[in-house]
Amino acid sequence: MFDNPAFDGHETVVHTYDQNSGLCAIVAVHNTQRGPSLGGVRAWTYANATGALTDALRLSRAMTYKAAMADLPLGGGKAVLMLPGRGAKTPGMFEALGEMVDGLGGRYIAAEDIGSTPDDMKRIAARTRHVTGLPLAAGGRGDPSPATADGVFAGVAATARAIGRDLCNLHVTIQGLGNVGFGLAARLRAAGARLTVADIDRTAVRRAVAELGATVVDVRDIAAVEADIFSPNALGSVLNRQTIAQLKVAAVAGAANNQLATPEDGEFLRARGILYAPDYVLNAGGVIKMCADYFGWDDAAVRSRIDGIGDRLEAIFAEASRRSEPTSAVADRMAEARFQPPRLLARTG
Ligand code: NAD
Repeated sequence: MFDNPAFDGHETVVHTYDQNSGLCAIVAVHNTQRGPSLGGVRAWTYANATGALTDALRLSRAMTYKAAMADLPLGGGKAVLMLPGRGAKTPGMFEALGEMVDGLGGRYIAAEDIGSTPDDMKRIAARTRHVTGLPLAAGGRGDPSPATADGVFAGVAATARAIGRDLCNLHVTIQGLGNVGFGLAARLRAAGARLTVADIDRTAVRRAVAELGATVVDVRDIAAVEADIFSPNALGSVLNRQTIAQLKVAAVAGAANNQLATPEDGEFLRARGILYAPDYVLNAGGVIKMCADYFGWDDAAVRSRIDGIGDRLEAIFAEASRRSEPTSAVADRMAEARFQPPRLLARTG
């Protein structure tokens, strides 16, 4: 693990195997200086254990930056649950994971993520109190996606202002019409924006056409459509040398985690004159809501922090412009001013 390129001085990384349920899981706690680490449980079929570990290391680190930038009393963590095959998760796996989380004594708070649901969080809650995102019926606040879509909408609005456009005459291309992407599309449409969309799910696409009057393009073409803003809401690493070269937009602003394939792609975007709204600043609405859920904050506290996303982006854009730096580098520095990033000592082998 210490040789894994994604290792960043993580405080704790533990794995568990539960014979009864077949659970194979890794929990990575990146940093707890600001508070307990919070992060989703990603239930996914990985090609091998190294891929799962790398995902846990990268995603938990990103959560530290996201929580710090949103000024939450949280650190970054993540759990990956390695499924033997798509859809093969069982309630027993989440109960066993709950036991493991409980053993961490509150250093890691489990939450929903790709492949896990509020009902799965209920299973974890059967074994530990260190979990958030429970279903409404179980006393939780349910799906965090609407809060994420609210935050991304605030971020797209701030990005539009920065490129000198109004929402009512903005053209946005949207990649991915899932829980967040569709919610964002609906909010943008209500504000008067024009939408071009792409998704591998034909039902989602048909709904966007029928309900939002969106124009549809093939998923392979969405990054090359001429528009004001490209909004990635599906996959990570979507901004790489190839796609950035194709972009015909003034800015990129979306919810997908880890949009930059490499840190250097932030500079590549800047060199092309494309304003990049750093993903973890924009998509913090969900973690804000989960944090509120865990600590018992009221709706007004959630609202004010989500509204703050636009202000934080404006500060990043201004600093990046002043220093001629990529917005991604400026955001990382601002986040790191709010916690002590680990200093990795050179290993002598
Ligand atoms: P989701 O699974 O509900 O939606 C993803 C959508 O992308 C689906 O409709 C899927 O069909 C589509 N898709 C997959 N591959 C595609 C491709 N090649 N081209 C176009 N569309 C494709 O996920 P979500 O909850 O809406 O999250 C979207 C992104 O935002 C993810 O990267 C997620 O990690 C990130 N995010 C989500 C939240 C949240 O609260 N849900 C919070 C922070 C970040």
